[in-house]
Amino acid sequence: MRAIIAGAAGGPEVLQYTETGDAQVGPGELLVETSAIGVNFIETYQRSGLYPVGFPFIPGAEASGRVLAVGEGVSAFDVGDRIVTAEGRATYAERFIVAAIAAVKVPDSLEEILTDEAAAALPLQGLTSHYLATSAAQSLEGETVLVHAGAGGVGLLLTQLLTARGIHVITTASTPEKRELSVAAGAVESFAYEGFRERARELTDGEGVAVVYDGVGKDTFDESLATLRVRGQMVLFGGASGPVPPFDPQRLNAGGSLSITRPTLVHFLQTPGERAWRYGELFAGIEAGVLKLRVGKTFALAEAAAAHRALEGRETTGKVVLFP
Ligand code: NDP
Repeated sequence: MRAIIAGAAGGPEVLQYTETGDAQVGPGELLVETSAIGVNFIETYQRSGLYPVGFPFIPGAEASGRVLAVGEGVSAFDVGDRIVTAEGRATYAERFIVAAIAAVKVPDSLEEILTDEAAAALPLQGLTSHYLATSAAQSLEGETVLVHAGAGGVGLLLTQLLTARGIHVITTASTPEKRELSVAAGAVESFAYEGFRERARELTDGEGVAVVYDGVGKDTFDESLATLRVRGQMVLFGGASGPVPPFDPQRLNAGGSLSITRPTLVHFLQTPGERAWRYGELFAGIEAGVLKLRVGKTFALAEAAAAHRALEGRETTGKVVLFP
């Protein structure tokens, strides 16, 4: 089969489209023919060497596809089932393996809405947005929170999920077009990064926001902490601009008994029940029309390097999808 392989850590150019051995299905696993692949920021961290992985390395965890073979002991899936996953192995490929417990069938009722492309846009950023909105921090109806990179993949979905819970979302985004998209997703206001702390304070009558969801990291962290109200919560969930350097915990005291968490999706999919609950709410939101998926850019699998360049170059909105 053909796959994208990174031979060593480096820039997007290390992603080479290559013939490689076929994936072999083991007990409890599914072999899946890839329909569409979701590109996520984590794959840029892994490719660049920021997050350690063993090379040579086929990136990717998220995809939609059809089951080609079921491993020993798997009874919940049949050959031909349409599935999605955020937890596949090496999904930048024509075929991939996923543990059966980490795959989810596309519900019959969503067969038309969740095209291959849309289905690949849902799992990873959808589950992430769901745990951020429901479990990583607590904000109440009527409170105001700040979401950075409001027109990104996570940003658009998180804004919709929080807004549906009655929370006022304000966002940052780098261009007027991105800010328009963010407002269309439900943000009460979207503004540029410059001076975001002052604008967020103005919008909360000087009080500050209840939660900051920060996936930008290095460039926004300091000002994000200074944007929180007394006992506000900082949810640092990524570093699109780079990792945040070590900081003095006394700043949490000085800032108003703040709290901080650095969550990761895997810790919010701890049981089959938790995974089913999160997917169930996402599917219901899509069916009800309150959650809309946006695929901003698509590329052929062979062009994965261009997809990484676009994501790292801030050229994308919503989801980036590859087609094998
Ligand atoms: P996005 O679609 O949000 O793309 C990243 C966005 O970050 C850009 O479009 C850009 O928006 C903004 N950005 C700000 N500064 C920079 C910079 N210097 N370089 C590049 N981008 C920048 O990506 P995702 O939705 O896939 O991911 C968003 C964040 O969430 C990432 O940090 C990712 O690692 C994290 N994440 C964390 C998970 C977790 O469980 N912890 C799971 C999934 C994602 P703009 O131009 O508007 O500034």
